[in-house]
This record gives sequence, structure tokens and C-alpha cells, in this order.
Amino acid sequence: MSVSLIQLEPIKLGQQSFRYFGLKLIDEGAANVVYKLTELFPGDIRSTSSDTSPKFMVSSSIAHINFTRMLLRVRKAAAENVETQCDIVDKLNNLIPSHHIVQMIPVQASSELLSALNSDLLTRERQRRRPQIRCGSMIEETNPTVVLVEDMSAESTMSFTVEFKPKWLVQSPDAPKDAIRCRTCALRAMKLLQSRDGKLLTKVPPFCPLELVEGKQDFVRHAMSGLLLSAKLPYERGSSNYEAVLKDLVHYFSDGNEGNKLLHSIRKAQQHFSPGPFRDLPELNQDRNTTSIVTVKKLEAAVTTMTLRDVSLFLRYTFSQSKKDGSVIEAKLADLDKKSIDKISSWKDTELKLQSGGYYANKEPNAVFEKICLLSRPRQQGYRAQDMSSELQDTGYSHVHRSTPSTC
Ligand SMILES: [Zn+2]
Repeated sequence: MSVSLIQLEPIKLGQQSFRYFGLKLIDEGAANVVYKLTELFPGDIRSTSSDTSPKFMVSSSIAHINFTRMLLRVRKAAAENVETQCDIVDKLNNLIPSHHIVQMIPVQASSELLSALNSDLLTRERQRRRPQIRCGSMIEETNPTVVLVEDMSAESTMSFTVEFKPKWLVQSPDAPKDAIRCRTCALRAMKLLQSRDGKLLTKVPPFCPLELVEGKQDFVRHAMSGLLLSAKLPYERGSSNYEAVLKDLVHYFSDGNEGNKLLHSIRKAQQHFSPGPFRDLPELNQDRNTTSIVTVKKLEAAVTTMTLRDVSLFLRYTFSQSKKDGSVIEAKLADLDKKSIDKISSWKDTELKLQSGGYYANKEPNAVFEKICLLSRPRQQGYRAQDMSSELQDTGYSHVHRSTPSTC
């Protein structure tokens, strides 16, 4: 059944055939605006008739959608990326289990509702409640397709959510043979050097993605302790309740367990679509109609794998309700909107800078040897080179190399 979100018409208030929802803007990026949905009842709407915030109604026969656990994502006009998560999710069949991907439901919004959302943006702009950088960009009123996205935020005080990007779960095929940093660690080092005060704007201590996917308990504990710094936990850091949460998360991501299997499936998908080194990628012709099908397929694969190297992973932890029930951890991927093919030249450029600047080899200007990356540590401390290289051979990578710095 097609689902239509219709601008609320007061004359329809109270009719059994409709349900009503209010929209609250919670996030705005370059390409989308995201709203939280709250169910409204006719009495509430009548008593706050001066409230001009956007509202919509849907047929009450649409019982299969839990609207209050969904967010509404609306595309902006002039957003360069016209492909959606739905396109890429189709390609992930058999690679990443669907229960580990946030649910997305495309629905239709009436033109009156889209117009009301734009009026709300203008009001915010006039009242200086909109970030300066977003002022002037508006919702695309000619495109009625909007998306309901599963809301992974904490459901109550009994749960909390943290979000992180697993990033590159396998070394870049462009990395030099003397690399002792993976792609993510090399980029972090470059950003650190380029930052004005030598500090990154993050409270979370850096961790190596290869270390996390490895699944060894002490490595996972380091990564999860960092993530919990950004979580809203009702417990003091170091308390027994806090340690119990940390223990659950460490167990979830340890080798062979559910979270670790998910990371391995993301890594497999990154490898599956990787077209090999960026330095070997063909150029996209200015006139795209003259670009060969083989070239387009390679470039499309590069875009897909780069999308998978930048997905967000939402972790929702629900505390145990009783001694009988244990805690529950849900892990779901989001940000699967395919990146623009126009970004390929900047990705090539980044790889060049990482190599020529010596970041992969920890030989950048004023380099201080660091041991954050798994590749910088002696083999006996946990790097299973054999396991990794057998997976890499499947995708044609042959030059992943470890060196053991004498200072270790
Ligand atoms: Zn690393």
C-alpha cells in the first residue's frame, strides 16, 4: 500500500480514519533535513492552535509502520546525490544481514506538507535558529518522495545510544609496502598535523579499525571505553554498573560474537566492491556519455566501497529490566546513501597526500613513532597477518606488509 503524508487539515481533526503527527527538526545537513515524529491527538492540537510547527496526517489503516519509532528524512533541492540508501542496500544482499541495517521506508509527502516544511525553515532562518551555513538551502518541493528512517536514539532512560564509524576495516590497496599505519590511522595522523593547534576536535581517544575488527578483548575494551565517553550513562565511570555495561559491549564485539561478525561482514562488503588501488582508476570523462561501460562499472564500485568505508554504526544498549532479563544490544548501520562519483578525484588526491607525506609509514614531518595502529605493533601482540592476507588475496591485494619497528 502506498503511504501518503498529508499536511494536517484542521477540518479532518478527530476523524477515525486518520492519525496525526507533529514534526520537530532535529538535524540538518547539506543534503537532507531530519525530523522527529510525535503522535498528536485532536484535543492537544486544538488547545495549541497557535502552534504553527509542521504537522501531518496519515490514514489510520497504515498499522504496519511504527511512526513514533521513525524519523522523517527530507531531501533538499540541489542536493548533488540523487541515489538513496535503498539503491545500495539492494547490492548488500547476502553481505550484511538486513537486521543490522536501519529500516528505510520511502513514502509520499503532499506538496502542501513540503511547502509547510520550507515555511518552517524560513521562520527559523528569520529567528536565527538555523545554522548560518545552512541558510538559503531549501527542501525540494518538486520531489514528493521522502523517507521514514528507523530511529535508533535511546527509547527511554533505560537505554542509551552511541554512534561511530567503523571506517576502513581493511588496509587501503594504495598503501605503500612499508606502511605501519592503516588508511584510517594515516588519515587521522594527517588531520592532526594539519590542525592549527595539533589537536583533533574529538573527545573520543583514537582507535584503529583493524584493531576493533580483530576482536581481541583488550583491543575491543580500549575502543569501547573511548566510545562510552560520548554516551549518556546514568553511572559513574569506573563504578560496578559502568563496568558491567563495558563488559557487555566488549563481549558483543569480541572475536566470534555478534558485533564482531557484523564488522567482518562490513569488511567483506568493502573488499567485495573494492576496484583496487585508486591510482589505477580510470578518469571519468567530462562528457559522461562517452565513458566506457567498464570504466563506469569500476568507478561505481569505487563509490560503493567508499560509501561502505564511511557508514555509521548505531549501538543501542538497553539495560536489563530484571535479574531474569539480560541487557540488549542492537547494532545497525546508517548513512548508506551512495556518495557522489564526482568525489573520486578528491579520494585519489587524499591517497597521494597520505603517501607522499609519509603518513602510512609514520614518516611524516616531525614524526613521533606512535603505536595506535594495529599495523605498528609486533605480531605476537595480536596481529594475525596470516588471517588478514588470506582474505586480501581473495580481492587481489598482494602488498599488505607489516614491519616491526625496533622501538616496540
Ligand atoms: Zn590503524
